[in-house]
Amino acid sequence: MKIITFASQQPAQEQALWLASLQKLLPDENIILFEQLTPEQVEDVDIAIVANPKATDLIRLAQLPNLAWIQSLWAGVEKLATESSLQTIPIVRLVDDTLAKIMAEAVLAWTLYLHRNMPEYLQQQAKKQWLQLPYKAPTEQRITVLGTGELGMAAINSLVRANFTVSAWSRKPKSIANIKHFTDQEGLRAVLPQTDILISLLPLTSQTANLLSNNTLSLLPQGAKLINFSRGGIVNSDDLLALLNNGHLAHAVLDVFDVEPLPANSLLWSHEKITILPHISAPTQMASAALVVANNIKQYRLEGIIPTAVDKTCGY
Ligand code: NAP
Repeated sequence: MKIITFASQQPAQEQALWLASLQKLLPDENIILFEQLTPEQVEDVDIAIVANPKATDLIRLAQLPNLAWIQSLWAGVEKLATESSLQTIPIVRLVDDTLAKIMAEAVLAWTLYLHRNMPEYLQQQAKKQWLQLPYKAPTEQRITVLGTGELGMAAINSLVRANFTVSAWSRKPKSIANIKHFTDQEGLRAVLPQTDILISLLPLTSQTANLLSNNTLSLLPQGAKLINFSRGGIVNSDDLLALLNNGHLAHAVLDVFDVEPLPANSLLWSHEKITILPHISAPTQMASAALVVANNIKQYRLEGIIPTAVDKTCGY
């Protein structure tokens, strides 16, 4: 009988919950924790479900002789996509409408936080300062979303519904109702000067790493604000700090960092123009994610078709 293995660095209790949840949806499957596979069972594994597995486990997964594909429980798969030992194994990332709705909610929440000047009012309160800042209508607030994928599109739709003026930038040309869409470096240089709030929902790849550095962030107008909900490596933190310190940028909301948890000695923690979030904008939800994964596996068992996998030449 075929075996599905589950590899993650989660605490044992959480792993047990995932296993129970998946097993309930896939009663005919044999799902076994990676570390509990016997040498005889190794031959029978054809699918691996992973949630941020250890680097050593990634290499051992690649050695499974009959592994057909890997299903990630996360939407971001930069570590799996760049692991050289897995280059020939299809990686399927989590595509879950519930996750997209949660990200859209976070984007709307923190856009409103910036739009209604909450960071400025927090600073004023600390100084017992009574000062009413001018009101700006959402239609006057120009928002650019970088990335128009599963999460980017959900975020764009919620921002449009809230009456913000939205533009978007991504790799391939796209036509999106009510939205100005830009591509390539020229498009990025064109849209940044017309952006009051910049939101990153890009995957981390060799193309997007360090994309938001002084070269690009300084093209934003004076007083612009940044939300990074994708991956820390997309923003150059030193350049961001310099642009916040010299007053070019007004505020940054950061949910993702090069090193997580953010080290206690990071200058980002105590900066008055930075809001730090502990990677909470769109956490994987077990109920909906398990259903997506179970459906992918059922479909594969029925038709032998591996779900759409990450394009390793693009890295996402
Ligand atoms: P996705 O569906 O793969 O969409 C990626 C988008 O980025 C696409 O629109 C793609 O353009 C664009 N893109 C990729 N490379 C580009 C480049 N070099 N230049 C311009 N555009 C580029 O991914 P998703 O599901 O929306 O997820 C996005 C990211 O969110 C994940 O990779 C992950 O890092 C992050 N995330 C964060 C959290 C959190 O809690 N903070 C939770 C989940 C995910 P095309 O449309 O032209 O292909």
